[in-house]
Amino acid sequence: MQVPAAFEYDRATSVEHALALLARFGPEARVVAGGHSLIPMMKLRLAQPEALVDINDLSELAQVSVEGGELRIGALVRHADLLASPLAREHFPIFHDAERVIADPVVRNRGTIGGSLCQADPSEDLSAAFAAVSAVAVIQGAAGVRTVPVREFHTGPYETVVGPGELLLELRIPIRPGGSSGYVKVERRVGDWPVAAAGAAVWLDGDVVADAGIGLTAVGAPHFVAAEAEEFLRGQPAARESFAEAGRIAAEHCNPVADQRGPVDYKRHLAGELTARALRRAAARARGEHVPPHGQEG
Ligand SMILES: Cc1cc2nc3c(=O)[nH]c(=O)nc-3n(C[C@H](O)[C@H](O)[C@H](O)COP(=O)(O)OP(=O)(O)OC[C@H]3O[C@@H](n4cnc5c(N)ncnc54)[C@H](O)[C@@H]3O)c2cc1C
Repeated sequence: MQVPAAFEYDRATSVEHALALLARFGPEARVVAGGHSLIPMMKLRLAQPEALVDINDLSELAQVSVEGGELRIGALVRHADLLASPLAREHFPIFHDAERVIADPVVRNRGTIGGSLCQADPSEDLSAAFAAVSAVAVIQGAAGVRTVPVREFHTGPYETVVGPGELLLELRIPIRPGGSSGYVKVERRVGDWPVAAAGAAVWLDGDVVADAGIGLTAVGAPHFVAAEAEEFLRGQPAARESFAEAGRIAAEHCNPVADQRGPVDYKRHLAGELTARALRRAAARARGEHVPPHGQEG
């Protein structure tokens, strides 16, 4: 099946207009952003929305900024814009690492941050990156604006807390001193979804890990988080051995499934190894060391 079922369509001119359109069309309406996930699903009839509300003109949702001590990334920011953002790279290099290896330029030029998170694919890269840095999602509906920690955003595969009639507006990440972040991924071929990937954020107090965030994708980590490994790391020396042990713990507590990308044991091994590498990357950056692109470490 290559042709979507019939649907109504309207193009929003503001957030308020988008919310009014969603309310008018009812619970079977869907937002369309980049359309890279939704349109193929409609063509395959895996999704049959009665109406689409196009938010591509909402430039107010397409900004990356620093406000109130937070990095703010609008839901309509394209992957390519996040990859190119000097602000994001300065404060959270995890996004530059991740965006380098998400899909290909065609998808990155159109696909959006909000669309990626709302699609909630269990192998989605940015869900792990946002979980690692403990971002907060800002959501608006008829009842007003609410905030939800990204670690509570996903309610299951392809399901989130964003309800019918609601719009994801932006992601906010508190900027805290003494830290940095990194992301590493293993994929079968360039531009593919991950076999497994890990993101890490580390805050140092001298040679000790004061705090750490670890996000995992494609390996069945609850809410994309390696909580037990994070807990272990707090107060540990910021050393290779600590990061290796955190990786071992992360691998133990994830729950990968076998599929065309690999068997369970391989994915579990990757979860541990990539967690350790992402932590080393984040810690090296927090110390001010130069970190080459992943795959060119030498
Ligand atoms: C060939 C290919 C390769 C890919 N490779 C990767 C990869 O390696 N890693 C990876 O992580 N991803 C990958 N992706 C996924 C890609 O990143 C997503 O398809 C895309 O970015 C989703 O964003 P979108 O703007 O296109 O969403 P859309 O398709 O427009 O929307 C997706 C869903 O989100 C909802 N939605 C969108 N925006 C909002 C909003 N602001 N508020 C509420 N709901 C909203 C829509 O209603 C829909 O349900 C790949 C996709 C393709 C096609």
